[in-house]
Amino acid sequence: MIIQHGACALPGADEFRRLDIRVVDGRIVALEPALEPEAGEETIDAAGLQVFPGAIDPHVHFDEPGFTQREDFLHGSMAAARGGVTTVIDMPCTSLPPVTSLAKLRIKLAAMGQRSVVDFGLFGGVSGHRIEEALERDMAELAPEVLGFKCYLISGMDSFTAVDHFGLARALNTAARLGRPLLLHAEDPSYVNAATVACKARSVSGGQTATWDDYVESRPMGAELAAIAAAISYARPGSRNGGQVQADLRPWLHIVHVGTADAVELLAGFGQGASCETCPQYLVFSRDDFVTLGSALKTAPPVKEAGNAERLWQQLADGRIAFAASDHAPAPAAEKNSGSVWTDYGGIPGSGTLFPLLYSEGFRRGRLGLSALLRASCGAAAARYGLVSAKGSLAVGKDADLALVDPAATRTVRGDALLSKGTITPFEGMTLAGDVVLTMVRGRTVWDGQRATDERPDAGIVVAPGWGKQLRWGNL
Ligand SMILES: [Zn+2]
Repeated sequence: MIIQHGACALPGADEFRRLDIRVVDGRIVALEPALEPEAGEETIDAAGLQVFPGAIDPHVHFDEPGFTQREDFLHGSMAAARGGVTTVIDMPCTSLPPVTSLAKLRIKLAAMGQRSVVDFGLFGGVSGHRIEEALERDMAELAPEVLGFKCYLISGMDSFTAVDHFGLARALNTAARLGRPLLLHAEDPSYVNAATVACKARSVSGGQTATWDDYVESRPMGAELAAIAAAISYARPGSRNGGQVQADLRPWLHIVHVGTADAVELLAGFGQGASCETCPQYLVFSRDDFVTLGSALKTAPPVKEAGNAERLWQQLADGRIAFAASDHAPAPAAEKNSGSVWTDYGGIPGSGTLFPLLYSEGFRRGRLGLSALLRASCGAAAARYGLVSAKGSLAVGKDADLALVDPAATRTVRGDALLSKGTITPFEGMTLAGDVVLTMVRGRTVWDGQRATDERPDAGIVVAPGWGKQLRWGNL
């Protein structure tokens, strides 16, 4: 097969190049100015389109099994594909059982079955529950199957609890020894838990319903900074966690969904080698937007003060933020609108809008150059999570994971057309420059925008569930 006449986004380049792409057995075998089709060879005409490497969404909650009223792999992966994502990495904490041991990972894989339409990796989890019993053994058994380990310094989940600082240090040591990043949800519990009690009491004693200001003030910027400072402290070389002098663990530390620009600067200054990600919600909104969006915008951490977003764009452009992720975590209306800011579900469907927002609000508005867009949308995540031999760029030898964008089109975000089980999105009604008209995973078209209609957006999914395969570190 040849994808002809497209404007190709090559790694490191800040200009598109008009190249043909030959794909054989799902891999890119040639990238040249003019390839002659062989007899019977299929061609796709990409004239007028921009050809990107498929985006990687390295932070999704597809909730299967256990919370499939919120999301499952079929719907989550369809939403991802529609937005140009060809690889997702699923979090260990929002399924039942959570993925905290190899036996539980196998239960999850069996329950998921063959339903993903895009390739996927899994993260293992380090829950406070397991820490005394079997932390090192569980992590060692999980390592061959997972692309990293996730833990929380604060957790709202009974089934996956937070670790304390000592647990964090142990988990980081163990992850480094196993050659996997440790991903940290970084909000300081000793601030947030106490502040939540105080903010709840304030509205109760005032006889008022709690407001979004109460929620945001219970999880302020300082709580992100404090948690990241702690993590860096235990990762620094020479730290004597548990009595042993340790190596520099900072290169194994990754902070998920950073929403505070000062936190990125702290990490860049003292966390050399550590990495972080941000999400479109932090790049687009500020706390002032709760007034109009309400619970549709609720995430943890919450979006922060105005001014952060523009600084986060700069940090994403210059690489202090390694990449973007969606933190896709939808929930049905009954859970999103529970009647209280404290109990409304925190999470949004984001996988399908991740790349379109980076493209429209980043690249097209001049906040990200082309090479920065490529790093932020796929290149850096592929490198961070051991996928770089097959994923993350348009190059000979890589998987033919492609997102074809019509730069002249626009797309208005509609929650009921996301293909996710979740339809409540803070991006509802935003009109984005460009549209993903075709998504290909290992040479197979997964999303074909020409087949989709307003009534049946899911008709654009043209591959059978199960085309997506599990990815392991190093493409093993
Ligand atoms: Zn998350």
